[in-house]
Amino acid sequence: MFTAENTTAWLTNFAGKIEANAAYLSDLDTPIGDADHGNNMARGVTAVTEALGKLSDPDLVTVLKTTAMALISKVGGASGPLYGTAFLEMAKAAKDANDTATLLDAALAGIEKRGGATTGDKTMVDVWVPLVADVKAGSLTKDQIKAAVEATKDIEAKKGRASYLGERSVGHIDPGSQSSGYLFEALIETEG
Ligand code: ADP
Ligand code: MG
Ligand code: MG
Repeated sequence: MFTAENTTAWLTNFAGKIEANAAYLSDLDTPIGDADHGNNMARGVTAVTEALGKLSDPDLVTVLKTTAMALISKVGGASGPLYGTAFLEMAKAAKDANDTATLLDAALAGIEKRGGATTGDKTMVDVWVPLVADVKAGSLTKDQIKAAVEATKDIEAKKGRASYLGERSVGHIDPGSQSSGYLFEALIETEG
């Protein structure tokens, strides 16, 4: 179940992981992209923690919507609108529900609709699809997160900047999948 409190804790935890690993995320984006994913995400999560810090006693919808707006306006690139849409769809779903399955399903559906990617395109969708299922089954572990992120190595990119490289995109972890891995790691550490 998501609450304003555990969601704020989740996003603060995520922000710390992104900031600590920003250089690594941009390194992942170097061979198959434009080397900016860590910077993009770090800019976004800094804006998220600033914006959340200004709220006083917010409800869940406000936490999620504030997060979405900060990500959409600050991350940029392909990943900004995708993460932003995920949180905006969670905010919409949170008007009527607060269970983990409903909200994460809404987030994933938003990413899929916005980016048009499906499993096997070497995008964050390749991590979100199996990990949302694992969360819903109550069985998500850090090993599963690591495995899902690592599995993007073997895929040839069909969407996003990495797709310009065709088969040369094989052999590299997808940067957006790694940042999404941090989001799920933060979730299992804070949501209970
Ligand atoms: P940009 O590619 O514009 O520089 P980023 O480097 O911040 O943006 O983000 C790249 C990440 O965005 C990729 O690693 C991938 O996970 C994700 N991504 C790109 N295009 C799509 C898409 N159409 N659907 C889902 N995720 C995507
Ligand atoms: Mg990039
Ligand atoms: Mg870019």
